[in-house]
Amino acid sequence: MALAAEMRMSSEDRKTGAQPQDPQLLNGLAMALDAAQLGIWELDFASGNIRRSLRHDQIFGYDTLQPTWNQMDSWRHIRPEDKAAVEQSYKEALVTGFWRAHFYIDRNDGKSQPITLSASVLYDVRGKPERMIGVISEDKDINRDAPNSLEDLARSEALKRSQQALRQNEHFTQTVLNSVADGVVVYDRDLRYVAWNRAMSMATGISSEQIIGRNVQEVFPQLLAEGVLDLLHRALQGENLRSGDRPFIVPATGEKIWIQSLFSPHFDADGEIIGVVGIIHNVTERRLAEENLIKLKSEEIARVQAEEAQHKISTILQSITDAFFAIDNNFRFTYVNPRAAQFLRRSADEMLGQDLREMFPTIVEHEDFHYLRKAMETRAPVKFESRLPHNKGWLAIRIYPSGEGISIYSHDLTRQKRAEDRLRASEERFRVVTENSPDIIVVIEPSGLIQYASPSAEALLGYSPEELEGRNLFKKFPSDASHTLRNNLLLLMYEPEKKITLELEITRPGEQDICLDIRANNLFTHPDETSGILLTMRDITRAKHHQKELVEARKKAEQMNRLKSSLLANMSHEIHTPLTSLLAQANLLAAEIPDKYRDAIERIERGARRLADTFGSVLALAQLEGSALGIERESFDLVREVQAVLQEHEKAARRKNLTLRIKSDHKEIPIYTDPLYIDRVLNSLVDNAIKFTEQGEVLIELTTSGPQVEIIVRDTGIGIHPEFLPQLFDEFRQESTGLSRMHEGSGLGLAITKRMVEALGGTIDVTSEPGVGSSFRVRLLTQPVENRSLQKSRRRMLAQQEAVSRRILNNGNGNGQSKRTNRVLLVEDNEDIRPLLEQLLKKVGEVDAFSNAEAALECAARTNYDIVLMDISLPKMSGLEAMLKLRSMHEYDNVAVIAMTGHAIPGDRERFLQAGFDAYIAKPFAPSELVSMVEAWI
Ligand code: ADP
Repeated sequence: MALAAEMRMSSEDRKTGAQPQDPQLLNGLAMALDAAQLGIWELDFASGNIRRSLRHDQIFGYDTLQPTWNQMDSWRHIRPEDKAAVEQSYKEALVTGFWRAHFYIDRNDGKSQPITLSASVLYDVRGKPERMIGVISEDKDINRDAPNSLEDLARSEALKRSQQALRQNEHFTQTVLNSVADGVVVYDRDLRYVAWNRAMSMATGISSEQIIGRNVQEVFPQLLAEGVLDLLHRALQGENLRSGDRPFIVPATGEKIWIQSLFSPHFDADGEIIGVVGIIHNVTERRLAEENLIKLKSEEIARVQAEEAQHKISTILQSITDAFFAIDNNFRFTYVNPRAAQFLRRSADEMLGQDLREMFPTIVEHEDFHYLRKAMETRAPVKFESRLPHNKGWLAIRIYPSGEGISIYSHDLTRQKRAEDRLRASEERFRVVTENSPDIIVVIEPSGLIQYASPSAEALLGYSPEELEGRNLFKKFPSDASHTLRNNLLLLMYEPEKKITLELEITRPGEQDICLDIRANNLFTHPDETSGILLTMRDITRAKHHQKELVEARKKAEQMNRLKSSLLANMSHEIHTPLTSLLAQANLLAAEIPDKYRDAIERIERGARRLADTFGSVLALAQLEGSALGIERESFDLVREVQAVLQEHEKAARRKNLTLRIKSDHKEIPIYTDPLYIDRVLNSLVDNAIKFTEQGEVLIELTTSGPQVEIIVRDTGIGIHPEFLPQLFDEFRQESTGLSRMHEGSGLGLAITKRMVEALGGTIDVTSEPGVGSSFRVRLLTQPVENRSLQKSRRRMLAQQEAVSRRILNNGNGNGQSKRTNRVLLVEDNEDIRPLLEQLLKKVGEVDAFSNAEAALECAARTNYDIVLMDISLPKMSGLEAMLKLRSMHEYDNVAVIAMTGHAIPGDRERFLQAGFDAYIAKPFAPSELVSMVEAWI
């Protein structure tokens, strides 16, 4: 009984039930096994310690039970040559759950002893080996010399013996089984109960007598569903199995327990499976412990989470820009976030624990304070908007009952309110603008549905804005107009930023057609979100009408202008040609006729010149009016220019016994302007001064001040009547008119002068006193504001030509000297002029004259001419064409071709020079002018 006593656990331990350390199972068995001379042992995997019976230690050659024994102690005793095999089978046992082995041990007393070992492994819920319980028996009959056959023999012998022992004593077996705290059942191959211990009876209320011989399924049909039946069948196939935890209600007590079953095959002496042994553990305690642990864990998690949440909330409250504070039922601050502290102008520490009413008596007086009281009394949330004094802003306040008081949360609404105000103002502006605009303003959806229509829409669409909203705009137009509009608006879908402008003609049956100017663009609420299309439509029917009229008027004006130009061109040609002839004839006659006719000839010449002058003035005026006369500026000395003009008038002044002089504050006055214009202006003023002065002097004064130069033409003449002064610069105005006219002139000179001065950016004015004299003052800038590139040489050349022509007209005779050897080709179709010119040109060389270009060209191909004078208006081939033909002959590469024409309207000169002529001389010209030009070019 030493074994039983030794193995028994204390009553304390027993209470713990089927704990892994509990050797209860072994209590009864131990006695049986002791009797069968079997050593019993139990290995605890966690510590490696082995609890043994005395018999176990005796088999190992000890007389008494050893105080401690661990795996190493057992291992030490295994015969070295068996160690590898034993270790291998041990490892397999950990997997299979069963260990059977035969090997030799070296006993403590030095003897060698063959033993048989059999053991089962118990696992924990997670399937980890927890304990191993086994028996060993001595194989006395084993012959050391035949270990292989002896091992088999030993096994069968030992098994036989142990099973025999159990079988032989059924009562004994029952006793053993009944003493086990766990339920133990044994099934036969048909799963009929063959053993049922007391623990099972107590747990189920079914006695062994009631159950032995009955099939498991018959008694516990639910086991099929719980999968236990399957485990039993598998155990019958040789597996060692463990079920999961299953709940079980103890019928006797109604208590819910948790059980776990271990099933192992039950072998007979021959190793045949004859049934299944089941051990049913009560795992409730472990289960509860586990559940407890889980509960504890989840509580811990919940606590941590709550703490985290609280931390989070507090962090949020600390960082939000809204004010938040809490007070208890006595109005004492329990929490104040930084924003609230800032708002209340106290630190949180100062406020915590203090009574709100005492700290802030003014708040208490505030009309909103009753909301706090209300929330505190009713314990219901309150929400309101509060206006800060002095229009400083708005707050949205929410009060929540919380714990022992209330929480006050205040959000600054000022920006939102201001934005709302701005929005309202903007809406109001939009309304006022749209309602007062004569334009029709419509907001539509892309489908055409009208969201908004301004009152002005009524006039066009025939409905009030209220009636229009919700209707489709496209249906308000005739289909073709609507189609155009729709297509244009489609573009807005692809290019949202686009602004569309279109004009739409709408025909309305029975009514006047209208024309609309439509502008459309998307209305953006956000950068990439449109809320509709804004259309502004303006009735431009009348404007269109006016525009049409204007276009027509312009067309007409242009037509008239062309007519005028061609009229001027023809006139120019028709007047200049006979004048040329007249002057040339007079010139020739002057040399031939007796003196008594000379005066008459001079009168003819003067008359012709005046006619040419007047016509020149009319042309110049036309030229200025059409602003076709281009200004070409260059740098020159104004003093020298004035001197040159005075020189030209010297003769005339002397004739009238007048002093003609210049007075300048500088010897040289550089100026950058058009010398042609200046020449004309000066000539006109000096001409008049001499003309209207009978005695005294004509003085030209030049004074500069900064960038300005003043030219004053002063005379001591008849003066101008104050009444006439305002009209002085008007066209065709002369002081003495009608038959009583005292002086010659067209009355155009000053009008042209004024326009020219103004064209140069200057001014002209006059002061005069009848009988005393007149002063004409021209003011000019020495440098113009804008600067243009120049073609100096050509300009100078033209200026020279002008000067020459003027001199010829004034003096009558040129002084041509020419070399006889020069060959001149003349083409002129006018039968009157040609012989004259021929005669004239003989001064410079040999002349071949032709009346048409074809004949001239033919001759030009044969003869090398030194210069060609070409009329422009010729029969068949024009002078221009002939010039181009000449240019194509390389002999004429360096031969000057001069255009000689009555085409003398503005722009003609430029036109001919550009076409390729080397020079241009307008008819009428003085004979000497022509000779000079030819001499210059030859
Ligand atoms: P015209 O070519 O006939 O001279 P103008 O335009 O040059 O035309 O002059 C217009 C009129 O202004 C002249 O007829 C004359 O009455 C008056 N007038 C111009 N210059 C002077 C002057 N220096 N002294 C007096 N009268 C003048």
